Amino acid sequence: ITTSSDIEPHRITVCVRKRPLNKQEVIKKEIDVVSVPGRGAVLVHEPKQKVDLTKYLDNQVFHFDYSFNEATTNDLVYKFTAKPLVRSIFEGGMATCFAYGQTGSGKTHTMGGDFTGKQQNSAKGIYALAAQDVFTLLDQGRYANLDLSAHVSFFEIYNGKVYDLLNKKAKLRVLEDDRQVNLTAFPFLLSDCLSRTSGQTSANANSSRSHAILQIVLRRNDRAATLHGKFSLVDLAGNERGTDVSSNDRSTLVETAEINRSLLALKECIRSLGMNSDHIPFRQCTLTKVLRDSFIGEKSRTCMIAMVSPGMASCEYTMNTLRYESVEDPT
Ligand code: ADP
Ligand code: MG
Repeated sequence: ITTSSDIEPHRITVCVRKRPLNKQEVIKKEIDVVSVPGRGAVLVHEPKQKVDLTKYLDNQVFHFDYSFNEATTNDLVYKFTAKPLVRSIFEGGMATCFAYGQTGSGKTHTMGGDFTGKQQNSAKGIYALAAQDVFTLLDQGRYANLDLSAHVSFFEIYNGKVYDLLNKKAKLRVLEDDRQVNLTAFPFLLSDCLSRTSGQTSANANSSRSHAILQIVLRRNDRAATLHGKFSLVDLAGNERGTDVSSNDRSTLVETAEINRSLLALKECIRSLGMNSDHIPFRQCTLTKVLRDSFIGEKSRTCMIAMVSPGMASCEYTMNTLRYESVEDPT
């Protein structure tokens, strides 16, 4: 068994997390079509039909760095994904952790945590766990010679615009150097306060249509407050396509187009990062502009966690998610 301190993060780590069938799915007797047979593997039993209309399940296998089954806790997911990146920001690096997947697949459960259930079911998410570890490392004094302080910002990108979630959703301007004008940056927040904040409502009615970004920034305590390292934790907008043709609501179509565009741009940036390319096409949308410095520099580390719903009704979305995550495999 590897412990997290042994994990040397790759430049890009790609993982999949399967959530359990929820109550409604169980009531509807949904078939679980996703299995996690071993480390890194994900199997989808895709319902298909032969020419003679007999139905069968077609097994499709995908491989990732890690795959987590429905019994995996947030703590364990954190250990293999974001935790190994925490140290890298103390060493002057940029780290990013993305939660990707369709609405309802568990992105917010994983990132923000789940405080909706009864006390025994509540679980801290990656925001709080990472913040806690940053706090501990600062406290331990191992990096005391660097004279660092941590600042936290929490904002949201909706329709290409940035809103500060720690300051009454004030609209922000995105600059090329990634300093959002007037972005609230709190000196360190306690992790339970952070958890509450991350449960806040978003600027738009439906938070699954926006990207939420929590940034933990380490700055030197010098006059210029020099940037030392940055950890961006991103709860991405739901990746389901606007397949609902009955919806000819213009604003919904614009929203969907913007989400698709930003997720594609993100994939391109991550792919360029993986190929050590000099050219990172981050200018294409607000999401990649804001995360610009996560994609450059020798010390950048990225972790993608793809969330999948297990039900047969979600199978098409699950396949889309797994294909998107297979970064090396251009589909
Ligand atoms: P998303 O943010 O991707 O839209 P949520 O995180 O809101 O999805 O999850 C949808 C529902 O599923 C929530 O009620 C959440 O509590 C539940 N859920 C998600 N992931 C898990 C999990 N790993 N274990 C238990 N319940 C989960
Ligand atoms: Mg969500």
